[in-house]
Amino acid sequence: MEQNCLFCKIINKEIPSESVYETPEIYAFLDINPVTPGHTLVLPKQHSSTILDTDDDLLSDVAIAVKKVAQAQMKSLGVSGFNVSINNGEIAGQKVDHTHWHVIPRTAEDGLQHWPGHPYANGEAKAVGEKIRNALI
Ligand code: 5GP
Ligand code: ZN
Repeated sequence: MEQNCLFCKIINKEIPSESVYETPEIYAFLDINPVTPGHTLVLPKQHSSTILDTDDDLLSDVAIAVKKVAQAQMKSLGVSGFNVSINNGEIAGQKVDHTHWHVIPRTAEDGLQHWPGHPYANGEAKAVGEKIRNALI
């Protein structure tokens, strides 16, 4: 439990939420400002800021919970596709500093916009790929 963390308070039921799934490790509840109805936030109960400081075992638990929630959305809401996304860091759009996965059911003409892509310049992909490969070794 991190003091002043909104989602820790929600997990602890100090702040109400519309919960959809809970295990000893995981809590899932409806986003208060959904992209589409059913938009769910899935999070490890143990506080972390991004996936980088989340325990690996918990990451596996969350992946399974995300799948369960998505299956339930498909079954109950009559939708056939969904997005799973995580905003890691303020620059990536993260507003609440407790790691969470957005599971967003998609419907036709619900306003989906793909993020804009920018093609690589000549040789740039090779150079960038090399940087990442080197950092992984
Ligand atoms: P982020 O931008 O950090 O990835 O997403 C935070 C999400 O939390 C937003 O989609 C926002 O609507 C949701 N949210 C913020 N405050 C509350 C709250 O008090 N209750 C619920 N259920 N969702 C919240
Ligand atoms: Zn927290």
